[in-house]
Amino acid sequence: MNSKVYLGIDLGGTKVLSAVINAKGQILSRGKKRTAKVEDRDQLVGQIIASAQKALHEAGTAPGDVAGVGIGAPGPVDTERGVVLEMPNIPVGCLHLRSELETALGAPCAVDNDVNVGTLGEFWRGAGQGTSSMVGVFVGTGTGGGIIIDGKLLRGKTGITGEIGHIVLDPDGPECGCGRRGCLEALASRTAMRRRVERAWDEGQGTALKELTGGVPGKLRSGAFRKALDMGDKLATQVVRDCAINLGYGAVTLIHLLSPERIVFGGGVMEALADEMLPIIEGIVAERCLDGCAEGIEIVPAKLGDDAGVLGAAALAIEIASE
Ligand SMILES: [Zn+2]
Repeated sequence: MNSKVYLGIDLGGTKVLSAVINAKGQILSRGKKRTAKVEDRDQLVGQIIASAQKALHEAGTAPGDVAGVGIGAPGPVDTERGVVLEMPNIPVGCLHLRSELETALGAPCAVDNDVNVGTLGEFWRGAGQGTSSMVGVFVGTGTGGGIIIDGKLLRGKTGITGEIGHIVLDPDGPECGCGRRGCLEALASRTAMRRRVERAWDEGQGTALKELTGGVPGKLRSGAFRKALDMGDKLATQVVRDCAINLGYGAVTLIHLLSPERIVFGGGVMEALADEMLPIIEGIVAERCLDGCAEGIEIVPAKLGDDAGVLGAAALAIEIASE
């Protein structure tokens, strides 16, 4: 019997979630701390460790019982060295997370990008189960992805892979969060959808979205789009449809390049709008893929929600503990 436990940590711009997880992928306990107001690296590392200690305490586990630690961070990661190069939403600079956490928690630690880690979580315990190749596409504030081939995360030469949000769809298109133009993320993400609605407001177009959010663009969450769709709102319908069409073009490229068994769509936008978006994505794939190449490839919603991050991080921990 395997009684080892692992720590899976999901670091985000507003909070850090830790979970003690066994080898079967069962979550035994959780710990959560805020990261929104951290001022420097030491405070951030302090919050990560405090969330881990809370989870360990809840599970009645001593730090010495942990066989491995995995963490997903919101930015590009040098996975070889366990260093987060930068985090746009937590501006504390470059962070040697692996060495910090190994010292504090006394177990081997693996670090990877949060979207790669979320993809690994869905592959291990969620919508990717039973496949050996899948792509995860997460649509939220931005749009990111992860690629699994033959049961392993594709890490490529630099470790920066699966940057699906930066497939260029329109070289002269709107500006992207990355500072370049016309990336998928600039056309299909909550930020892109919000920008379209703001423009329509400025042009005086009537929409239920305005009443639903009190005219405050910052309140345009995915739930507001959901409600507006249910009310038959024309602008919301158009914006959601265009977002899904662009995600469909992204999926066409993924299928042509990788022929994965499954593409799993997750993230806040999808959690609210998958019922509308997935059929549109499937339609674009059927229309635009080369003959036969999309046959049998499944396009499905993610299953794990927020737990994808801690579970994927635990999968990383299991991998590093067995090396
Ligand atoms: Zn971009």
